[in-house]
Amino acid sequence: MHHFQLRNNELYAEELKVSDLAEEFGTPLYLYSAATLKRHYQAFDSAFQGLDHLTCFSVKCNSNLGVLRLLNEQGAGADIVSGGELYRALRAGMDPRKIVFSGVGKQEHEIREALEADILMFNCESREELYLLNAVAEGLGRIAPMSLRINPDVDPLTHPYISTGLKENKFGVGMDQALDLYELARDLPGINPLGIDCHIGSQLTEISPFIETLDRLKKLYQDLLDRGINVKYLDLGGGLGITYAEEEPPHPSEFGQALTQALQDFDLTLILEPGRVIAGNAGILVTRVLFNKETELKRFVVVDAAMNDLIRPALYQAHHRLAEVRPQARTESEADVVGPVCETSDFLARSRRLPEVQPGELLAVFSAGAYGFAMASQYNSRPRAAEVLVDGDRAFAIRKRETYQDLTALEEGL
Ligand SMILES: *Cc1c(COP(=O)(O)O)cnc(C)c1O
Repeated sequence: MHHFQLRNNELYAEELKVSDLAEEFGTPLYLYSAATLKRHYQAFDSAFQGLDHLTCFSVKCNSNLGVLRLLNEQGAGADIVSGGELYRALRAGMDPRKIVFSGVGKQEHEIREALEADILMFNCESREELYLLNAVAEGLGRIAPMSLRINPDVDPLTHPYISTGLKENKFGVGMDQALDLYELARDLPGINPLGIDCHIGSQLTEISPFIETLDRLKKLYQDLLDRGINVKYLDLGGGLGITYAEEEPPHPSEFGQALTQALQDFDLTLILEPGRVIAGNAGILVTRVLFNKETELKRFVVVDAAMNDLIRPALYQAHHRLAEVRPQARTESEADVVGPVCETSDFLARSRRLPEVQPGELLAVFSAGAYGFAMASQYNSRPRAAEVLVDGDRAFAIRKRETYQDLTALEEGL
C-alpha cells in the first residue's frame, strides 16, 4: 500500500498532483511520500513487538537526510556501510547506539570514526578486519563491540547480483571458520564479541531462506555458548522483498511472526536491517517524454530520465511499473522506454505495453524509493535529479537539483 494513487484520472502524491510538482520542481524528479515511509516503517517494526529488537534502516538504499530524519523520528536506527553513511546518519540526528556498521571493506579511518561516535556494533567479515578493528580500538583505548557476519550458505532465491549468503559470495565468513574467529575475537583485548550477524541477500520473496539461516545461526549460538562465549545480539540483516510487478513477498507481519516463533526460547536482542521494504514503494521517479521514435523493428519512447538516474533496469534487468501521470484512453503498443544516455543498456523498460504518449507528457516510474537516487550518478554529465518529500498537502525539496556548476566545482581552481 502506498500513497501514489489516481484520482479523477490524475496521479497524486498524497494530496498533491504529481503534474503540479513536476511543473514546480522540474524533471526528472524523485518524489517520496512521508505517509508511506512512516506506514512501512511502523508495519515492519511492529511486526517484531513480541521480541526485544532494534530496526536499523539500511541507509544505502536511500540516504537522503530528509528521509533519514523522518525515519529517526519514527524510532529507527541505521545500518551503515561506510564512513559517509555514518556521517549522514549522525547529521540526521540518529542515535549512535542504534547504528550498526556492515560491509566487507571497512577502512581504518572509517573504523576510527565509528568508534569515536560510539556506535552499537561492528559487523565484521574477516580475520584481517578483526585485527584491524582490534588495533584501532586499542589505539583509542576502547573496546569494539563486534558481531561476526556469517555466510550461512543459503540460497536466497533472488537475482545473483543481490545474493550475498552463498559460499561463492564475497560476504561474511563460513561456518567452518566462525568458531575460530569468535575465539580469536574473545582473546583480542580491543574486541568484545557480542553478536552474530548475517545478511543473505535482497528482494527475497520467500520466508524459508530466512528460517533456514536462523536455524544455522541458532546452532552456532549454542556452539558459542559451549565455548563460554555468550552473545547478546542476533542480526538477521535486511532483504525482505517488495512488489515491483507480480511478486508476492510475505507481509512484514508474516515475516515478524515467523521470526518471533523461531526465536521464542532465545534470550537475544534481534537486529533487523530493512531497506527496500521501507523505502522502495515510498518513492517514484517522474520523467517527461522527449520524443517518439519508430524504427523498422521497434518503437522507442525517449524520456528525460536515464540510467544515471535509475540504474536498476540496466544493472539487474529490474522491472519497474510505468504509468502515465494523466492517463488517457489511447491505443497501446509495445515500446522500449529509453533515456538520453549513450549506452544501449540505458532503458527504464523494455518491450512494455504503453499508450501512445506524446512529447511533453509525464510518466511515473514506480517503486523507485530504494536504490534509485542513492545509485544515481552524473554519467554523461547529467546533473542529478531533485528529491522532494511530500507530506499531506505540503512538498519539501529535500535535495536540490544539481546544476552545471556542481558538475565541475571540484575540478576548478586546483
Ligand atoms: C543492502 C543491505 C541491507 C538492506 O537490504 P534490503 O534488501 O534493501 O532490505 C541490509 N544489510 C546489509 C548488510 C546490506 O548490505
